Amino acid sequence: MFPFSYTRASDVESALRGGQRGGRYIAGGTTLVDLMRETVEHPDELVDISALPFADVAPTPDGGLRIGALARMADVAAHPAVRDAYPVVAEALELSASAQLRNMATIGGNIMQRTRCPYFRDVSATCNKRLPGSGCAAREGVNRGHAILGTSEACVATHPSDLAVALAALDATVHLRGPDGERSVPFTAFHLQPGTTPDREQDIRPGELVTAVEIPAHPRPLASGYLKVRDRQSYEFALTSAAVVLHVQAGVIRSAAVAAGGVGTVPWRLPAVERRLVGNRPSPQLWADAAAAATEGARPLEHNAFKIELLRRTVERQLRVVGGER
Ligand code: SF4
Repeated sequence: MFPFSYTRASDVESALRGGQRGGRYIAGGTTLVDLMRETVEHPDELVDISALPFADVAPTPDGGLRIGALARMADVAAHPAVRDAYPVVAEALELSASAQLRNMATIGGNIMQRTRCPYFRDVSATCNKRLPGSGCAAREGVNRGHAILGTSEACVATHPSDLAVALAALDATVHLRGPDGERSVPFTAFHLQPGTTPDREQDIRPGELVTAVEIPAHPRPLASGYLKVRDRQSYEFALTSAAVVLHVQAGVIRSAAVAAGGVGTVPWRLPAVERRLVGNRPSPQLWADAAAAATEGARPLEHNAFKIELLRRTVERQLRVVGGER
């Protein structure tokens, strides 16, 4: 470890002052403390924001749902409004991390978490995300768990959040507050593909706080669910995952949203899959035809070509489940 100062913010303004000084915000601490222990991150100051009033989960006037950034993962997963209207969110949360971590970790921290690429966490390895310009050990190393979509020469790391995949499928919005006031970013634009600057991971400005994520109103009836495929059934990150959201009326799919995890450098929407679904009647053939489009543009690395077929099967299986075919 190394020396750092700790401040507990009692209100938003004092938190933002800490952020402007260059302090790192901390709430549940389930990611940042690990990274500090491993000396991947070494902030001079931690600004504890856990006392700020951002923990509510509440319906919005237009029929959507606003989830405060400081709400705990376990509380959101158990919330009746979430379970009733957006089971894809509850399932993604319940399949994340461990019970102990879900009791501590917050929604804001979850969407801000950093990659689980082992080379990122090994300070003796080259890593453009940790040390820009140093190289990418994963490209020539063991890259079985890495991304096949959205990669660049500089970085091939996956985004680790399950919740983020569900929120991408639900067209959520991220609300932020910073020294210049409030702003909102569409969830699908919040996480940045690595390009030549993999160290820049979110559309967030210096000193800004994530205050909430908001799910807009969706047409009813809405069926949704999340499937996660991993090497073991608990406390493991996704090899592939699929969040599926379907609005079916009079036997026809009126709207469809599908997103994948474990395969992209960011939570990955699959518009080609969605286009094949909308306007059609659910059938086993439709699920298979649509899922075949899930891997468009995929570029496997030496050890992860298996993700191509696994992703197709993951999407097809979850389309069947959410579409009512068990
Ligand atoms: Fe670093 Fe990205 Fe390469 Fe992993 S994949 S070593 S995070 S640059």
